[in-house]
Amino acid sequence: KLASREFHPENTVIEIGDVRIGGGELVVMGGPCAVESAEQIDEIARLVKAAGGQVLRGGAFKPRTGPYSFQGVGVEGLIMMAEAGKKHGLLTITEVMTPEYVDICAEYADILQVGTRNMQNFDLLRKLGEVRKPVLLKRGFSATYDELLNAAEYILAGGNKDVMLCERGIRTFEGYTRNTLDLSAIPVLQQLSHLPVISDPSHGTGRRELVEPMTRASVAAGADGLIIEMHTDPDNSMTGDGVQSLFPDQFARLLRELEQLAPII
Ligand code: PEP
Ligand code: MN
Repeated sequence: KLASREFHPENTVIEIGDVRIGGGELVVMGGPCAVESAEQIDEIARLVKAAGGQVLRGGAFKPRTGPYSFQGVGVEGLIMMAEAGKKHGLLTITEVMTPEYVDICAEYADILQVGTRNMQNFDLLRKLGEVRKPVLLKRGFSATYDELLNAAEYILAGGNKDVMLCERGIRTFEGYTRNTLDLSAIPVLQQLSHLPVISDPSHGTGRRELVEPMTRASVAAGADGLIIEMHTDPDNSMTGDGVQSLFPDQFARLLRELEQLAPII
């Protein structure tokens, strides 16, 4: 299989501008769950850059559990985020939910995210195989490693080699945390596959106070990068993810700590 370490013994390194993912340097993607306004995403981009992050995250299209919840600002959000990224010198990552929107998302964002709910949306995966933009593929919340790697295979089989895998927590019997961040996924996926592995301690725990320790744990487990939610006003965020979003000063402190941690590990 194309995703397997057997097929491709060397690590895949994804190069986007001067950012290298999977090449040994830790990449940090930070930003809000959802793009809410031009001012919001611009201010958060400034803070992500100042803290030392490389990629601005933000959803313009949000996969909400209920149909009446805020669904994202749509294409306008893609434009707002692209402008903020360009202005502050950050790459951007955003979620794409349907094959029809792949081209427009690819036009505005540097990395396309497949959400946990869409890991086995095979039409979407096939379409992503046709574009030449890196894809961050999130593990389905009930998916095995094998199912995740098979999902990646759909994208790779189409000719898109720039796929990174993301552990974002799985559903277990534990209800205290929103999900259980499966730290073993990081070394296991790196053993089975050559693709970079990114950890999402925000969705992986659902609790702000756990993001910092699980970020450190992810780095210790060998993650190639992190995707972390940060918001300037988490209590008033437009999705329910404010409770897991770091305040800007926490985000900055965490990245300073990682700078010291990464070379040791
Ligand atoms: C997100 O990144 O905001 C998101 C919706 O993630 P997930 O698909 O992991 O729930
Ligand atoms: Mn979110």
